[in-house]
Amino acid sequence: MKQKNPVLHLVNEIEIPKWLLFFSVLLSVIGSIFQLIVPLFTQNIVDNFSEVIKNKYYIIVFVFIFLLSSILNGLSIYLLTKLGENIIYSLTNKVWNHILRLKTSFFDKNSNGELLSRIIDDTKSINSFITEIIPSFFPSIIVLFGSIFFLFMLDWETALIALISIPMYVILIIPISNVMQKLSYKTQLETAKVSGVIAHVLSKIKLVKLSNSINKEFRQTNSYLRNIYYLGVKEGVINSIVVPLSTLIMLVSMGGVLGFGGYRVASGAISPGTLIALIFYMTQLTDPIEKISSLFTGYKKTIGASQRLSEILSEEKENLQNNNLNILNSVDLSFNNVSFSYDENNHVFTNLSFTIPKNKITAIVGPSGSGKTTILNLISRLYEIQSGSIKYGTNSIYDYSLVNWRKNLGYVMQNSGVLNRTVKSNITYSLQETPCIEDIIYYSKLASTHDFIMKLPNDYNTLIGEKGINLSGGEKQRLDIARNFIKTPGILLLDEATSNLDSESEHKIQESIKNVSNDRTTIIVAHRLSTVLKADKIIFIDNGEITGMGTHEELLARHSKYKNMIELQQLK
Ligand code: ADP
Repeated sequence: MKQKNPVLHLVNEIEIPKWLLFFSVLLSVIGSIFQLIVPLFTQNIVDNFSEVIKNKYYIIVFVFIFLLSSILNGLSIYLLTKLGENIIYSLTNKVWNHILRLKTSFFDKNSNGELLSRIIDDTKSINSFITEIIPSFFPSIIVLFGSIFFLFMLDWETALIALISIPMYVILIIPISNVMQKLSYKTQLETAKVSGVIAHVLSKIKLVKLSNSINKEFRQTNSYLRNIYYLGVKEGVINSIVVPLSTLIMLVSMGGVLGFGGYRVASGAISPGTLIALIFYMTQLTDPIEKISSLFTGYKKTIGASQRLSEILSEEKENLQNNNLNILNSVDLSFNNVSFSYDENNHVFTNLSFTIPKNKITAIVGPSGSGKTTILNLISRLYEIQSGSIKYGTNSIYDYSLVNWRKNLGYVMQNSGVLNRTVKSNITYSLQETPCIEDIIYYSKLASTHDFIMKLPNDYNTLIGEKGINLSGGEKQRLDIARNFIKTPGILLLDEATSNLDSESEHKIQESIKNVSNDRTTIIVAHRLSTVLKADKIIFIDNGEITGMGTHEELLARHSKYKNMIELQQLK
């Protein structure tokens, strides 16, 4: 759904402390009024110096106004900074909280680098619009029109000459600043791209090295960097024209005012103080014009950023707590005419039906790409089916709240890896409360992890992951198994859980699976013969369709592909 105004939509989404915005704008408006008064004071001081110097009240008021305007200015900067930080904080929190809850399919479609840039850069550009551009709008209008008013009030003839600079400014500076905005937007996009690529390459650094692709990756990043460089040089070229040109415009009109004003002073039409005040007001014209024009270009940029953030915020979240249905103990799990595709062009299942018997070990086997992992992804509700039903007993699995459903579910995924924390908190990661160490040790032993953990420098308190000790693939997998065993889930899903293990650990894990699967429904995606042999039921899936179901002996007798698979493994 397209939002009418994404900036307003977003502003409504977060709670901006309106009183902060109001006071900061108010203070800067008051500051700009003082800014308008100062030239008048100066005029008076120049023209009536001998009298003014005697009038101590006048001096006091003058000093007071200066001091007050500095204090108000300081206060307004403080309030605006506070407001800005507040906006970044709320917006980043809101977007991050939303992203964490989005459906898995969202993460398939969006790269991490891009999401990171949305969270960081887009919130920043919205913040600068709200805290820098909007608040300067009112003061700019006041200073611009106030200065024009006082110029005409002081001497309309000199004022006309002073105002020649405005159309020149508008004709030259505004289009150029538009181009500048576009350039800086492009630079931002290129920077986001390059940071995405760098993050990706770093995460795959071993693959890059092994594939001798260092130069290839360098060249690719280099082309982005070169784009950023050219954009920067273009900005430089424009600046090299704009800065001297605007100084020239300023000098020409200043020269005009000084020449004509000097003539007016000499002819006695205006006083010297008035000329000084006129020049003062003239110098105050350019800044507001630039600020007002940056409001329009800044607004365009903010619309882009807000639109992207609004898009994320309108993405559908997973509903974690839709229902409080209690999870039933030990019932069959059944797929009934399930159809599913990850995206429109890729149908994985059409009308798939089968039953997973309660408290038994069911193995799913079949060629790779046939949909075995997808079945586990659907049971764990990482993805939702498009039609048909998945039932747990008589209820649809979608009738249970997601939190309850996942509490009852263990899922040892392929390469789920470890988190940057201690061994102990890795094992207890999915539990709400940390269990006693005896329990942790018990389940670690069951997953054959205890022995290697005891060899680590601080046993269960050793820091692992990127910032700690690196574990072997098999060790990581066993930790993942321990993490899922300790949950004592009603349904245990294992995806090639033994693929990274040596034969001794594999044997131990097989034993543990046998132990823990006594009172739970266990579904194993298996390639290995040993796993398959122990299963109570085997489902053979080929290209999204079930081509055979039964025990090992039954399939061996009637399923040629299964027989082939077993024979191939025995040959090894
Ligand atoms: P298996 O586990 O049997 O090897 P999968 O269930 O992983 O097979 O994959 C089944 C099909 O779905 C494959 O064609 C695969 O390319 C596709 N697939 C798997 N995951 C995704 C995903 N996240 N997005 C799109 N397609 C996917």
